[in-house]
Amino acid sequence: MRNKEKLQDKARGMLVGLAVGDALGAPIEFLPASAISVIDDEIPHFHENSRLPKGVWTDDTEMALCLADSLLASKGYDSYDIMMKFVAWCDNGYRTYDGKSPMDIGVQTARAIGEFKDEPVIFGDDTTESAGNGAIMRLAPVIIANLGVSDIDATAQMAVLSARETHNSKTAEMVTRIFAEVLYKICQGDDKKAVADFVDSKMEVEKDGNKLYNLGGYIVDTFAIALFGLMNFDNFKDGMLAVLRFGGDTDTNGACYGQLAGAYYGYEAILEEWREGVYLSDELVKIADELLEMDECPVIRTRFR
Ligand SMILES: [Mg+2]
Repeated sequence: MRNKEKLQDKARGMLVGLAVGDALGAPIEFLPASAISVIDDEIPHFHENSRLPKGVWTDDTEMALCLADSLLASKGYDSYDIMMKFVAWCDNGYRTYDGKSPMDIGVQTARAIGEFKDEPVIFGDDTTESAGNGAIMRLAPVIIANLGVSDIDATAQMAVLSARETHNSKTAEMVTRIFAEVLYKICQGDDKKAVADFVDSKMEVEKDGNKLYNLGGYIVDTFAIALFGLMNFDNFKDGMLAVLRFGGDTDTNGACYGQLAGAYYGYEAILEEWREGVYLSDELVKIADELLEMDECPVIRTRFR
């Protein structure tokens, strides 16, 4: 593949990988790892359950699409427009499968959206201690929009801004910055060793598989699980299965791994059943392409003073 095609394959992989991981993980979210037998060893399928039809994803992808829609419509990053889309999602089911209010919504996210409705501007250094994984589960559109037009630092800064909208915490911002830099580097062609060295230079993450079972939604844990899946397997499918088998916050773990591995191996390397069976598959590809083709992606307005 030529460079331009390669980048497009990675961008599509990052966004579709996010949605695939979300949709695979959603039916088994917070089941104990020992109970995760619904994942077939050989041919891992999407599953249907009482909450969701086959291939349908949750808040991770819904919020990612809110971000994508806003970046494309605003031709850059506009805090207020992004938050209005999050409000429309939360209150009116914008970007949800059935047009109803989302079935999944993180505690911190719900609080931040509620606070935005009361007071859109955030003054000073009003950070919280809690650091949920909501900031990285939806990140792909921000990275893709910047890939061709911004350097790694500007991209990471915008990623951090997008985290701050709902996860105004030092830890969430730190992990989001590193996650953004890793995604950017992968798209530039960094190999796994370079990625591992980079992460090691930035932070300590738990890479022992035995300690990754049944974890909650802490952003550092989710990042560790996603990295584990990328580093210890040589293809999208096997890493995804390993990530899902840890149990815990499976849809978000899957969505975060899906972004890393989708960017690393590319869209074409995702199982056809997954990349074509995921809800809105064609639209996801189209959105990734449109984000990648943006002429510029400046910060237009932020609500942080
Ligand atoms: Mg979810």
